[in-house]
This record gives sequence, C-alpha cells and structure tokens, in this order.
Amino acid sequence: MAASKIYDVIIVGAGAAGLTCARHLSGAGKKVCVLEARDRVGGRIYSLPHDIEPIELGAEFLHGVHPILDDLIQEQNGSFVTAPEKHLFLKGRRLVPLKNFDKEFGKIINKLNANPKNDRSVADFLKTLKNVPDEYRQSFVAYVEGFQGADIELIGEKSLALAEQEDEGEIGGDGAFRPLQRYASYFENMLGQKINALVHLQHIVKKIEWSQKHVIVTTNTKEKQGVRFQARHVVVTVPLAVLQNNQPLSRIEFAPALTEITEALQGYHMGHVQRIIFEFKERFWEKLSKEPVVFMRAGPDHYFPTWWTKKPIHNNILIAWQGGPKAWEMATWTSQERAFKALSTLSKMTRKSQNYLIENLETYYTYNWSRDPFSLGAYSYTGVERKKSRHRITEPIQEKIWLAGEAFAKKSSQGTVHGAMETGRQVAASILKKL
Ligand SMILES: Cc1cc2nc3c(=O)[nH]c(=O)nc-3n(C[C@H](O)[C@H](O)[C@H](O)COP(=O)(O)OP(=O)(O)OC[C@H]3O[C@@H](n4cnc5c(N)ncnc54)[C@H](O)[C@@H]3O)c2cc1C
Repeated sequence: MAASKIYDVIIVGAGAAGLTCARHLSGAGKKVCVLEARDRVGGRIYSLPHDIEPIELGAEFLHGVHPILDDLIQEQNGSFVTAPEKHLFLKGRRLVPLKNFDKEFGKIINKLNANPKNDRSVADFLKTLKNVPDEYRQSFVAYVEGFQGADIELIGEKSLALAEQEDEGEIGGDGAFRPLQRYASYFENMLGQKINALVHLQHIVKKIEWSQKHVIVTTNTKEKQGVRFQARHVVVTVPLAVLQNNQPLSRIEFAPALTEITEALQGYHMGHVQRIIFEFKERFWEKLSKEPVVFMRAGPDHYFPTWWTKKPIHNNILIAWQGGPKAWEMATWTSQERAFKALSTLSKMTRKSQNYLIENLETYYTYNWSRDPFSLGAYSYTGVERKKSRHRITEPIQEKIWLAGEAFAKKSSQGTVHGAMETGRQVAASILKKL
C-alpha cells in the first residue's frame, strides 16, 4: 500500500542530530516527519527529574563553547555551571593532586601524529613513548578509554591527533560545563508547539526503499506492522552501531543495499561506557583534600577509575565512570554487580570500608546503553585508517539518503551533543539547496 502524504524529508531518529535537522527544515517551511523508535525524544540525552538535581543517564557536559548548543540553552533561559578542572589521583593508598597535569599530559598529546604515512593504534603509539612518568601514561590511557569510550587497541592515532588539533583551534575548547536544568528538556522543547505534528514516537523504522524518484520508509508500531511513509529525501540519524549491526529490533533494511556505506562504516567503532550516579547520605569525600574535590582518578587497571562530584554545586551525588573495554565487559553484569565493583574502587580511593559506603548509600541510578537496542553503545570513535574508503560518509547516496549523527561529526566533535547537532544542521542546509 502506498503512503498517501508525501513529505519533503523523513528523518529517522529524534536525538540531537534528528531534532536539529527537523528544526532547520521545518523552519524553512519544508514538510518534515521524524520517526523515532522510543517513546521519548532526546536519544542518548536522557534526564530523569530528581529533587536534588536532574539525573543525567546520557550526556551530562557541554565540552567547550559551541554556539549551536549554547544558543539552544540560552533561548530557553537555561544556564550552566563550570566544572572546576581539579584532579586527584590515587597513588599508593592516597589521593594526591597531579602536579603539572596539563603540561605532562600536553607532552603526550603533542607527540600524536595527525599525518602519518601509516596510521597505527594508540596502543602501538604508547609503546614508542619513552621517559613518560607512569601516572601520566596511565592518565592518558584513562582519558582515551574514559573520555572517548575507546579501546586503545582499536582507536587510530591519526583521528585522535586530528581531534586534539581541531580542539586547540576552538574557542574555549577545554572547559566542561553542566546545564543546570534537565539536559533533555532543551531538546524536548526545541521544536516548540510543532513537536507533536512532526515527531512520530514508537515508530521503529524497519525498511528504507529508495530510488531516484522517492523514498519509502516502513515502520512497526505497537499496534501495527508495516506503516509506510513517503518522502523526497531521508536523513538517517540512528547511532553508528545500529547501522553496523543486525540487532533484530533496530536493524534497518535498505533496498537497494548501501554497499558503499557498509564499507565506509568499517573505519568506525562504537565506544562503551558505564556510569553510576550514587546518592549518599553525607559528603564524606570533602574531607579527603584541602582543595575542593572535583575529579578523582585511579589507574586504568581499576574498574570505575574516574569519579566526579557535582562541584561547584554542593550535593551528595558522586558519579562513577568507566569507559572502554571494561565498560563493554560489564555490559552483561547486573546493575548491582556494577555498583559493587564501583564501590570497591571508591573504598580504595577514600579509605572508607565498603560497609561504610553501603550504609551511607541512599540510592543509585544507572543505564546500560550497550544493551539498549536503539543505541548499542555510548558513542563512536574512529579506528586505525587502513585504506581510504571509496565513499565519503558525509556525502549523500544518490542525493536521496543522508547520514547525520555524532559519528559523522568532525573529529573534535565526534561523540558529542554539539557534534551531532552540527551534522543535523549541515545536512538540513544541503537538502535545502536541493529542494
Ligand atoms: C552515558 C553517556 C554519556 C555521554 N556524555 C556526554 C557528554 O557529557 N557530553 C556530550 O557532548 N556528549 C555526551 N554523550 C554523547 C551524546 O549523548 C551523543 O553524542 C549524542 O546525544 C548523539 O546524538 P545523535 O542524534 O547522534 O544520536 P541519538 O541521540 O542516539 O539519536 C538517534 C535516535 O535514533 C533512534 N533510533 C535508533 N534505531 C532506530 C530505528 N530503527 N527506528 C527509529 N529510530 C531509531 C534512537 O532511539 C535515538 O533516539 C554521552 C553519551 C552517553 C551514552
């Protein structure tokens, strides 16, 4: 059965990229429809309301100053705070400030080669480093695993070097800011009154049939299988791992198949992270240092080596973070098993017994993105460049199928909210030139 209404553009996915794209296209008067599998918008931005402060299960920070995201927050009268850059590192049995952290860390970053003859993994790059103190080497691994969610055996030196170089050139590239209101609220409100007309929730896209003439998108809903939508263009913003995998629920069949895309996607990997938000009865960590306790770090051999408080805000929340291969390993554990593992690291860092920590615990929150069929991981990173792909991933297929989302952002913004938004806006601008 043919779809009756013909849209200018169908957007698959109502995360940061899809909603930004929809806003630009509908703002230009185009007929747009967003098809989203979940019963909510925001995708990997997922905030629960809470009486102390919102619980962020997905994105939490704004990394640097990026007008596309800052403007969205400001237009909704939102505000943010800056997370102070203070790091304590577990050395022996004590948490100590890392002296010259930026300088020593910068020395390692500066050795990354953005233009190698043959790319190599970050693990291989690390083997060539001489005279780097162990704690900085460990911090570097923790950064790549934690911040990028990456496996150092898979992530490419070149892409990491490019990301760092681009970052240098950006305004306020290094600061980490945290919105004070629910992160997701800005995305829930970004389409204003139009949201109900534009976004179709609980529509799992199963098939995209395309030709020079048009695109037919078929979805399954709770009530009905095979609901069809027709458009002149389709923008696919589902996470990288959904495009790469054959997960039965979220898999999208393209007809004809997108062989050039499948090949180009092999250069990317999905990163994994596990985060646990612990709410304690008291702030016992405040006595650990004369300085405000913001970030606490342990070596990469620990599970949950990175912790942070909500400074400058005083509350009883502590966040535990694990990225990379250990996060993937823990994806099959129960949330209680993960929480116990995290508390054992916290016990070492704070020299409080695990019993003390458990008695002091009010509650905890966590979300397993690696097991969610509509994300299948946290965010993407770029692998070792083996050979140049024949297809540039940011170019449309036959002017009909466009890809957007964090994976396809420029290197310094890959894996971020602002990066996803930028791709949504870029694709909208390119489609407007065609319509
Ligand atoms: C734990 C965690 C912490 C993070 N922290 C930060 C941070 O502090 N700062 C930062 O900038 N970024 C952070 N990120 C990354 C950031 O959240 C993402 O880069 C960004 O939100 C991705 O947006 P997107 O639009 O590309 O993808 P998504 O938000 O994933 O949107 C894609 C949408 O497609 C939908 N979909 C999937 N399959 C189908 C299908 N078959 N049919 C229909 N719809 C489908 C999904 O449900 C989803 O809503 C974090 C991510 C995680 C998981």
